[in-house]
Amino acid sequence: MKDQNLINIANERITRLFKEAQNAMNEEFSRRYIAVMENLSKRMNVTLPQNIKKSYCKKCKNLYKRPDFRIKNRLIIIKCENCGNVRRIPINQQFQAQNKF
Ligand SMILES: [Zn+2]
Repeated sequence: MKDQNLINIANERITRLFKEAQNAMNEEFSRRYIAVMENLSKRMNVTLPQNIKKSYCKKCKNLYKRPDFRIKNRLIIIKCENCGNVRRIPINQQFQAQNKF
C-alpha cells in the first residue's frame, strides 16, 4: 500500500533535486543530483515528471544543454552532446496540440 504523504515528500524532493541539478556549479555536481533523484524515484516507486525525464541523458546523467535536436517521422530525436547517446521520443497528441504541428 502506498502512503500518499511519502509520495508527496518524494515528489517535492525530486523537484528540489532537479532544481539543484540545474543550478549546480559544475557538471559533476549536477550529475550527482540527477543520480540521487533517479535513485529516489526508483526506491519510492514514483515516476519522474515528463519535463524532468526529457531534460537529461539517461546514459550519462548529463543535463541537455545544447543537444543535437531533430524531428523525423513523428519522432523527436535527441543526441546527447556529452556521450552521444541517441534518444527517440514519439510526438504524442498532447505535444502536437501544444506546439501545433
Ligand atoms: Zn549522455
